[in-house]
Amino acid sequence: MTWVYIVTNRQADRRATFSGIQAPRSRVAARGLLAEQSILHGGRGMATVQEGGCACGAVRFRVGAAPRRVGMCHCMTCRRIHGSAFGVYAVFARGDVEFFGRTEAWRSSGEARRHFCPVCGSVAYMEYLATPEIDLPLGAFDETGLYEPGYELWCRRREPWLPQGVRTEFEEDRP
Ligand SMILES: [Zn+2]
Ligand SMILES: [Zn+2]
Repeated sequence: MTWVYIVTNRQADRRATFSGIQAPRSRVAARGLLAEQSILHGGRGMATVQEGGCACGAVRFRVGAAPRRVGMCHCMTCRRIHGSAFGVYAVFARGDVEFFGRTEAWRSSGEARRHFCPVCGSVAYMEYLATPEIDLPLGAFDETGLYEPGYELWCRRREPWLPQGVRTEFEEDRP
């Protein structure tokens, strides 16, 4: 894997590249809240570090690695909290996710906590207290086309007009 390390700060726009590849300056500058933080790029031109946040910007996050898995969920809770036909979550190791801003949470089932932005109500993330993982909603990322779901959960609740047989399907949760 090729890594490019870019550092910016107010005093000087310092850049250090270890491979001769540089990300466009405008891309770094456009990151707003996180523009002064370091950004790592790796892989086939796809940035490993990605950012996202809620609709109003009060909650922001940054991931420092690729997700462990990505899945669609048709369960009634995901339908309702997203106000959509399904939810899509990218699941990361807890240590690979940083948050900025305050969230509130409610208990959606035993160990599950659903966090949201208290200002705009956007879904922020989901976690199971017993597991070292964070589920980030795909639609909260700043970029599109980052991750593609590999499986679907709760297919017995899937809208009949959605495509079937596209990826691994589970009638309910993952076994
Ligand atoms: Zn918000
Ligand atoms: Zn669900």
